[in-house]
Amino acid sequence: MSSLHPDEVYEICEKINKEYNCFVTVVRPEREGDRFFSAKDCLCTKNIRTTAGSRMLENYVPFFDATCVELMKKAGYQLVGKTAMDEFGFGSFTVNTFIVPKNPWDKDRVCGGSSGGAACFTALAPFKHIALAESTGGSIACPASFCGVVGLTPTYGVVSRYGLIDYANSLDKIGVMAKTVDECIEGIKIIGRKDARDSTSVGLRCDLDNLPDARKFKVAVPREYFENVNKDVERCVWNAIHELEKEGIEYNEINLEYTKYALAAYYIIATSEASTNLAKYCGMRYGLQERIEGNFNEYFSRIRAKGFGEEAKRRILLGTYARMSGFRDQYYIRALKVRRLVIDEFKRVLNDYDCIVAPTMPFIAPKFDEVKKLTPVEHYMSDVLTVPVNLAGLPHISIPCGFSSSMPVGMQIISEHFREDKVLALARLYESIRGEIKYPSV
Ligand code: GLN
Repeated sequence: MSSLHPDEVYEICEKINKEYNCFVTVVRPEREGDRFFSAKDCLCTKNIRTTAGSRMLENYVPFFDATCVELMKKAGYQLVGKTAMDEFGFGSFTVNTFIVPKNPWDKDRVCGGSSGGAACFTALAPFKHIALAESTGGSIACPASFCGVVGLTPTYGVVSRYGLIDYANSLDKIGVMAKTVDECIEGIKIIGRKDARDSTSVGLRCDLDNLPDARKFKVAVPREYFENVNKDVERCVWNAIHELEKEGIEYNEINLEYTKYALAAYYIIATSEASTNLAKYCGMRYGLQERIEGNFNEYFSRIRAKGFGEEAKRRILLGTYARMSGFRDQYYIRALKVRRLVIDEFKRVLNDYDCIVAPTMPFIAPKFDEVKKLTPVEHYMSDVLTVPVNLAGLPHISIPCGFSSSMPVGMQIISEHFREDKVLALARLYESIRGEIKYPSV
């Protein structure tokens, strides 16, 4: 691909942004180039505003780059923008924030969340682009599925979280989105490194230059993942599985019984961790500040009432409640036990199978009107298929596998911890039989 002038790139991004609201901030590249990246707005970028989708951080300008951002730059990629997201990652549709992106395939529909802006721009970018995104409970897979792009969530710990404005530390994973599997491989190879600044980071532990032969894979298809799933979505995913079967892949239907408890456990663990993480935003050292008036409690309350959106407040309440003495054993500790059961169940299945294949989301991208009608619990329920694997910290990818009502449908491929190579090998094989997707253009 030929080199692009910074003005040209900036103009293209501005134009796309005007129509689709995918960026919180559009960034002008510094020099000519042929490869670009975007970063979800919870990833710190030196001298560039980083809001995590929250009014609380509306004016926060970090003085350093997150490790993953630094690595992309070192690899020769240039930043074109900070992508829109649900406040602190709290949501599945990127509507819980001040900049709401529109779906590239139909502007009346949501992009998914919380990395909605990342998926939106990935679908529309007319040049080589990799998006850095983040998932706590499905925030890469969900928008990738709704916008028809590839989204890779690596094993917990593969990518350093240094410079990430965290949601829930034991769950947060930085990953990549792109139009193709090969571009995702390129991206994860750049950012999947051990980093002394994040003691939980270990880097990639498989060889992505020599992927295994996916034609020899045995694949498990969990029955539970097709319950309450839209019929068209079900059909697309099964078609894909049958296409793979023609390539030599063997599959069996299996059960993942703990799946039905994963969602409840996730929302207890995630909100518990989030409520402690958000305690630092009290108007003193971090985020929004004003003149101190009244006593400290009055001041903190005023700042928090102003800075946090409705969903952040709801999660602070939920998380604080779940951790309260007297309730801790009943909720938080019990949720941790369920998490263990979910992990063990996945491990048992992945002992016998190379990968698990299932729909990513139970439906296609909903319309804004439909999302408005959802109660908070219905909103949480939409994550039922992406939360279990995130709770277990397993690598997974969402890859487009067909269309329903002209909207993309996503299929997720899951494998054992640190086996990104298997996930990517199967995704690449499927991509090669599926053929290219014609993306909308601005
Ligand atoms: N939708 C889920 C939530 O609201 C997941 C979000 C995420 O992965 N950041 O918690």
